[in-house]
Amino acid sequence: MSDGTSPKRGRVVATLLTIGLTVFAAAAPAHAAPQDNRYHPAAGAKGTATPEVVTQTGVPGQSVALTFDDGPNPGETPRLLDVLRRHDVKAVFCLWGQHAQQHPDLVRQIADAGHTLCNHSMYHADLASQSWSSVAADLEATNQAIHDAVPSADIPYFRAPYGSWGQSPQVAAEMGMQPLGWSLAVEDWNTPGTQVLADRLRQGITRQSVVLLHDGGGDRSQTIEAVDRVVPELQSQGWRFVRPATRG
Ligand SMILES: [Zn+2]
Repeated sequence: MSDGTSPKRGRVVATLLTIGLTVFAAAAPAHAAPQDNRYHPAAGAKGTATPEVVTQTGVPGQSVALTFDDGPNPGETPRLLDVLRRHDVKAVFCLWGQHAQQHPDLVRQIADAGHTLCNHSMYHADLASQSWSSVAADLEATNQAIHDAVPSADIPYFRAPYGSWGQSPQVAAEMGMQPLGWSLAVEDWNTPGTQVLADRLRQGITRQSVVLLHDGGGDRSQTIEAVDRVVPELQSQGWRFVRPATRG
């Protein structure tokens, strides 16, 4: 066969394609009109998320996931993207919806670089005491802000501001986002100095850690310098940088 494709194989492929499209259509939420970019079935693995808060990578061995909250932030995010690119590391960015609205270009840069997006609420309010519908509206507005910047964006995770969860894990799971916690916080919000942060990372990272860091919400230059310093050390010791587990 000059083109390597037999008629029989072509029929099989067409049949599989039809089955695939049927399954895809069946999985689509009823409200998803073609122009509706709120929840693509492909954006966030709808139906697979659980309300359990994930705090590990799920990858056996020396694996670690870096997560950066509260951006995008024009003061720090571009530098962080440069650091991650130089070290060939993919991370999770937990985006503050209002900041995504203000800096859609940065959301695009994060997505284009192959990093994973996470919904971190619209205004960084404490969601713990809010009603189901209020939390749902907040999370929906946040995803809309992200999709306004990157219509095809996959948003597989949600992280509650302050780790104050309330009903939000259940709401997020229904929307196809896995609640994402962490196993290590180095308290970079206290800006203790690059050296202290680097040491906390070196000493705190254990197998399958999910590390909470920040690229927004203040001056995060210490965080980014510490990451730039410690990542190559960990790589030389055999550590791999991966995504957090995609379900609890
Ligand atoms: Zn935050």
